[in-house]
Amino acid sequence: MRRKLAAGNWKMHGTGADLAEIATLARTHADPACEVLICPPATLIERAAREVRGSALMIGAQDCHSAPQGAHTGDISAAMIRDAGAGHVILGHSERRQDHAETSAVVHAKATAALHAGLITIICLGETLADRERGATLDVIGQQLAGSTPDAARGENTVIAYEPVWAIGSGHVAHPDQIAEVHGFLRERLAHRFGTGVAAMIRLLYGGSVKPANAAGIFAIPDVDGALVGGASLRAESFSPVISAL
Ligand code: 13P
Repeated sequence: MRRKLAAGNWKMHGTGADLAEIATLARTHADPACEVLICPPATLIERAAREVRGSALMIGAQDCHSAPQGAHTGDISAAMIRDAGAGHVILGHSERRQDHAETSAVVHAKATAALHAGLITIICLGETLADRERGATLDVIGQQLAGSTPDAARGENTVIAYEPVWAIGSGHVAHPDQIAEVHGFLRERLAHRFGTGVAAMIRLLYGGSVKPANAAGIFAIPDVDGALVGGASLRAESFSPVISAL
């Protein structure tokens, strides 16, 4: 059985004052049937990890470097993230693929480093509007999945997040049929590469304009095991109803 996962990606939002939101979620989340994760900016990881101690809420990071250490000014390694108290890391988010020209090969190297450090990776994939309009959605997703996911991926260490680029921060959530098609395709590609047993255990999240009002509808779609949530995860009052919808 795959445990549901509601993951919040705070992106470049949040200072110390916002730890109160994490404290509220830590106090209120107690449903053993689903996992809840917040990925704050790197500056807050250590304080957030302290905030959730003793609760079921988990803390993750939004990126890591592929090297264990070295001359990489401004970067942080997977081991540093682990040391700061996080257990997960988001990798290959479309904003990093765009802003930092991250290729799937780079994401693969980062994911390999993260698994080596004992982190659970959340590998993000998604087509642009141009990809979808030229009918290339599944080609793009298939290439990103194959190129970004290490051979060591298993249900306990890897989560895949499907985030159509055009649905992120736009208010335009993908249609249930579009989500079902891509998630079904991802499950099938994972089964082809890793076997049906492993594929059945890897969780597939949807991301892109998930809100309290649309969460239940999205979670009812086959092969959707949770969500990667941006804007609505910044406040406990908007993230809690998304978690409840799981
Ligand atoms: P929004 O929920 O703000 O659309 O962001 C989605 C996302 O990119 C999560 O990683």
